[in-house]
Amino acid sequence: MAATEKQIIDGVTEGSDSTFVNFSFDTLALHAGAEPDPATGAILPPIYQTTTYRQEAVGHDKGFTYSRSANPTVSALERRLAALEGAEFCTCYGTGLAATTALCLALLRAGDRVVVSQAVYGGTVRLFQQVLGKFGVATEFVDTSDEQALTNALAEPARFIFIETPANPTLKVTDIRLAASLAKNARALLIVDNTLLTPALQRPLDLGADVVLHSTTKFIEGHNATVGGALITREPKLQEQFYFARNATGAIQSPFPAWLTLQGIKTLPLRMIRHSENARRVAEFLSAHQEVTKVLYPGLESFPQFELAQRQQKSGGAMIAFELSGGVEAGIRLMNSVRLCALAENLGAAETLITHPASMTHADVPNAQREAAGITDGLVRLSVGLEDPGDLISDLGRALSC
Ligand code: PLP
Repeated sequence: MAATEKQIIDGVTEGSDSTFVNFSFDTLALHAGAEPDPATGAILPPIYQTTTYRQEAVGHDKGFTYSRSANPTVSALERRLAALEGAEFCTCYGTGLAATTALCLALLRAGDRVVVSQAVYGGTVRLFQQVLGKFGVATEFVDTSDEQALTNALAEPARFIFIETPANPTLKVTDIRLAASLAKNARALLIVDNTLLTPALQRPLDLGADVVLHSTTKFIEGHNATVGGALITREPKLQEQFYFARNATGAIQSPFPAWLTLQGIKTLPLRMIRHSENARRVAEFLSAHQEVTKVLYPGLESFPQFELAQRQQKSGGAMIAFELSGGVEAGIRLMNSVRLCALAENLGAAETLITHPASMTHADVPNAQREAAGITDGLVRLSVGLEDPGDLISDLGRALSC
């Protein structure tokens, strides 16, 4: 088993480093990690739907022994994701939360303390509070966009800082370079959930983060077709710990969703440009609408952290949060009246999705914490898709007048 682990780790290094090192992001999104099948020339890598691998002799395998430990299709996706984040290593998981769970099981033990952004995906809060809390891990939720609050939180020892930037659903931005330097001084690791922007718009490892986490369910796969997660790092020691935790707990992704994700990634650079252009158009429309009292979109000059977002992100991304003058009732009427936008619990898909965080994605976050994080009952979240923006604006305009 030890030999296999090493081969997988080395395999990832080889794939992302040697062949593709000089190519641009767009080319990597199409080619990194997956060569045409050597046996048949098939341009797409096969879906290796197999449990086990025949060994040549005792102790002699081809790097794969059992698909809970590693699978060639999943490894191809790992090489591609590592290349896109500018890293050497990646491990993929059955869901984004399985990746967060593996991260915590790999790095934490009873008595440890962690610092987590106040505004993060609701499932992340539930995991830290309701699951890890039972095993003696203390979580402090702080506004990581506030330098003083983060510095104060790091006055006590912390194993890691876990940030989501922009945050789901308030879109609050945390300065990754600053958080990385504060983490370093405090001897803590910095983990960045890069789900909302993807490496097409933000590369946290280049800014000093130790680990990037993805729910590949969202923009990375991008078509509402799979669930998946990933942990990406430049540190061999961390990769070994993640690989061990994934194998020990059985959290690996299956080959078919990994293969679909490999196909989805090919258009990631193009999709993220169009998502951002559409979102900006929709955000401008909402800002000018008389029924809308507040629009949060990092690509608008009115966004409270516009300068930081400009510096840290390539563009505003696809996510918009807004509030209506009619409060919760008006928000619910809007969400029940849209026809093209779909009322749904996901984000990051080709289709535009509209969500009520307080009752859907963040329902398990305690009220006081939701309020502190700015997730009001009237907040509406929009994940702007790839439709014609004119059609989206017509749909929202009609629903707002209902
Ligand atoms: N991180 C973010 C920012 C998310 O929005 C989500 C899910 O919505 C997750 C992590 C968890 O991912 P998954 O649903 O794939 O478990």
